[in-house]
Amino acid sequence: MSLRSFLEKMEAQNEVAHITDKMSPRFEIPSVINALADGPILMFENVDGYPVKVVGNVCGVRSRICQALNVPPESLYRRLNDALESPKPPKIVEEAPVKKVQEPPVLSKIPVLTHFEKDPGAYITSAVISARSVDGVTENVSIHRLQVLDDRHLAIRLVPRHLFKLWSMAKEEKRDLEISISIGVHPAVMLAAASSPPFGVSEYGVANTLLGGNLQLTKCEKIEAYAPAEAELVLEGKISFDREAEEGPFVDITGTYDIKRTQPVVEIVNIMHREDYLFQALLPGGPEHRLLMGLPREAAIYNAVSQVVPRVNAVNLSVGGCGWLHAVISIEKQMDGDSKNALLAAFAGHPSLKHVVVVDSDIDVFNLQEVEWAIALRFQSKEDLIVIPNARGSTLDPSADQEKGLTSKMGIDATRPLSAPAENFRKATIPTSKRAAETVKKILGLSKK
Ligand code: MN
Repeated sequence: MSLRSFLEKMEAQNEVAHITDKMSPRFEIPSVINALADGPILMFENVDGYPVKVVGNVCGVRSRICQALNVPPESLYRRLNDALESPKPPKIVEEAPVKKVQEPPVLSKIPVLTHFEKDPGAYITSAVISARSVDGVTENVSIHRLQVLDDRHLAIRLVPRHLFKLWSMAKEEKRDLEISISIGVHPAVMLAAASSPPFGVSEYGVANTLLGGNLQLTKCEKIEAYAPAEAELVLEGKISFDREAEEGPFVDITGTYDIKRTQPVVEIVNIMHREDYLFQALLPGGPEHRLLMGLPREAAIYNAVSQVVPRVNAVNLSVGGCGWLHAVISIEKQMDGDSKNALLAAFAGHPSLKHVVVVDSDIDVFNLQEVEWAIALRFQSKEDLIVIPNARGSTLDPSADQEKGLTSKMGIDATRPLSAPAENFRKATIPTSKRAAETVKKILGLSKK
């Protein structure tokens, strides 16, 4: 399964906007993606200075991610959690569409975007990176930002997680870590790469389960790593064990600049791509970045809270909370204390969480006006507020203690007390006839045109 097959499906549903105006990868394409981030997939067909197309905003809205996985929204977390628990190794194939063109590396031939005003240069942000341990036993797949340094070198941001661990293991033997850098892959591969199964579990296996066994991999030409056979573009590279460069400052999930750091350098040794490859853009700090990072955490929160309350209906790591720091969770509680336990479980399920609101199941967690309504009418700060000072939090939050990594967390229990009459908290409804419903539908249809 490929990005292309998904784009065809979206094309048939009128979800792809084709932009024929000439646009530069430097600021212009990012500014259009930014302005239309809640909208359709954006296909830039006339890229200033490059013969290839750029596609952006592929996973920009939640419903499209559900469509990519062929799953109704209410089953998304279960599907993701099931895939994390039962990864299946993908088929390895020799013949791969991505192997059609092989080229010595010249990164300036690729329309890599320069996104924000103070960025130090062009950054690849949609790449899925895979490596195997030197002994070939452990494979990891994850998403990392890559700063273009010159035609053959990138700086890679390695957060101390799994790829960092593989690199450290290679470094101990004074060896470079060989990686495949795949751009333009099916959304399921992006989502799997953004999730975090334990070290040793290949996220390719998770993606393969999500795709019903239809992911195919191919071995790279010059290095010991694997890439999706149907990717648009694959860079083959080596993360140096001893060469570093300045990386950043760069915009992260918060939409604010992360600090400048010294990070390892990747040497690109080969490039392969489809003949008319698409370059996939992903706007840092935009809704797509937040959704891809946030969805696997929503599934983790769903799991954690499900352990302590009879039923969890929905979880929203809201885009306004950067898809990372704010959660709204709707539950069904049996006892008044359940909602407080739900708050505590949510903090355990996603340690970067800062503010959590728990609501009853009649509240739509994706409608923040309704959530505010619940806080206004069902929450009493004296009883329903939990504040946890000096907990470990996200260093991405500029208001947190940057040196110690400490933050204050807050839980808001906006569920109605079971001791009071339910009637007092129920939204009044109006009986709606078929005729009335039809009329509303008609007017809504008119206002769309
Ligand atoms: Mn991993």
